[in-house]
Amino acid sequence: MFVSMKEILKEAKDEHYAVGQFNMNNFQWVQAILKAAEEENSPVIIASSDRIVDYLGGFELIASTVKKMVAEMDITVPVVMHLDHGLSVESCKKAIDAGYSSVMFDGSKFSIEKNVELTKEVVAYAHARGVSVEAEVGSVGGNEDGIIGGVKYADPKECVRLVNEANIDALAAALGSVHGPYQGEPKLGFTEMKEISELTDVPLVLHGGSGIPENQIKKSIELGHAKINVNTECNQAWANTVREILEKDKDLYNPQSILVPGMDAIAEVVKEKMRLFGSSNQVRVINKV
Ligand SMILES: [Zn+2]
Repeated sequence: MFVSMKEILKEAKDEHYAVGQFNMNNFQWVQAILKAAEEENSPVIIASSDRIVDYLGGFELIASTVKKMVAEMDITVPVVMHLDHGLSVESCKKAIDAGYSSVMFDGSKFSIEKNVELTKEVVAYAHARGVSVEAEVGSVGGNEDGIIGGVKYADPKECVRLVNEANIDALAAALGSVHGPYQGEPKLGFTEMKEISELTDVPLVLHGGSGIPENQIKKSIELGHAKINVNTECNQAWANTVREILEKDKDLYNPQSILVPGMDAIAEVVKEKMRLFGSSNQVRVINKV
């Protein structure tokens, strides 16, 4: 069984740690992420980005397969199955119907009026089914599955509107983070972050969490971030490992010899992030099934 984000993010925010969202890029990513979460005794959010749902095989296949993997691997830590950057109300509903326990509706490209209106529709559908909703204000820079865009800082007033009017469970307030690799040192808007955190009571979500220096990650958690998204660093670790193995032995073709070290490299990154975010060993024994 998946849990919703509502159940784990409130505790994370109260206890000043963050739960990592790790994006799946195929089912081996899921296996690596689940293994790492269990070994770290950490809650975990597995996400599929809406843009690659077709590549992954569709909502139904994703939700049912990940659920089976959780059971098969005897995973005891809380697992959230989350839709990352849901592109439309329709796709959020499809994910929910397929068994996702959480969705992000990304209406940040619309006016705040339209964003609130569409998010409300997603929230009504999701909350009736025990599913949590994340929404976004402003825009995260860089490359989001092929779409390149600039950073647009979240307006604190718009954040308050979205939180209060749409009753969301988590808020992605874009404050200078970027999807994909950073050019130079990332500079997050901590002044705005503090303001938004004080004005809203909702757990904040940091998108583009790969490549942000440790001190900025820790400060973001202090200022109300309870969820941090990581994708690029897992993918880079996988690609570097697989590339090295293939370059070392040009005759190698046995997939297991190539792919298992790739999965191990993903699991290592996930574990490092869980320790950094403070979510390791946060699963109370009493909660375990
Ligand atoms: Zn994102």
